[in-house]
Amino acid sequence: MQKTTDPTPTAAEPGWCDWHEGPSGTAVLIQAIEQSSGPGITRFACAPCREQRGLIPYGEQR
Ligand SMILES: [Zn+2]
Repeated sequence: MQKTTDPTPTAAEPGWCDWHEGPSGTAVLIQAIEQSSGPGITRFACAPCREQRGLIPYGEQR
């Protein structure tokens, strides 16, 4: 099998904003939901989306 570049970024990758559903250089982790099985759910948001929606980066949440 030949390695090809996947044109579709995955949501779990930093650099992707789940709020406007597009690539972003400013995306940070907002939410990480741990599941008993599976990889869990992670959501990333870029700076403009965080500002618009009042999202708090995961690392700054209590
Ligand atoms: Zn965004």
